[in-house]
Amino acid sequence: MHEFSLVLNIIDIVTEYAVKENAKEVKEVEIEVGELSGVVYDALEFALQAAVKGTLMEHSSVQINLIKGLARCTECLHEYETDSLFKPCPECKNCAPDIIGGKELRVKSIVIE
Ligand SMILES: [Zn+2]
Repeated sequence: MHEFSLVLNIIDIVTEYAVKENAKEVKEVEIEVGELSGVVYDALEFALQAAVKGTLMEHSSVQINLIKGLARCTECLHEYETDSLFKPCPECKNCAPDIIGGKELRVKSIVIE
């Protein structure tokens, strides 16, 4: 499962930070997931619950924030929200936008104790 390896990556990042800071436990983790990242939200949450067992994140409260897709038209430079990679520009109907937001998957903040 794609999401599982992403989750292991997230846990690695968080654990590395917590160990460096001599934390006993990770209290909170905030993750940002772009709507266009290809990550399935439910699968991510499920993988997370399974993968944190036995790690410093086992008792953390994890918040997953969905980030809206943002496109910029390559013709008229209009910027608009999108839920697909190929949504035409609402201004000039050009169908090949640059995707400038919504493809990210990152750890936004970590609270340790
Ligand atoms: Zn346009």
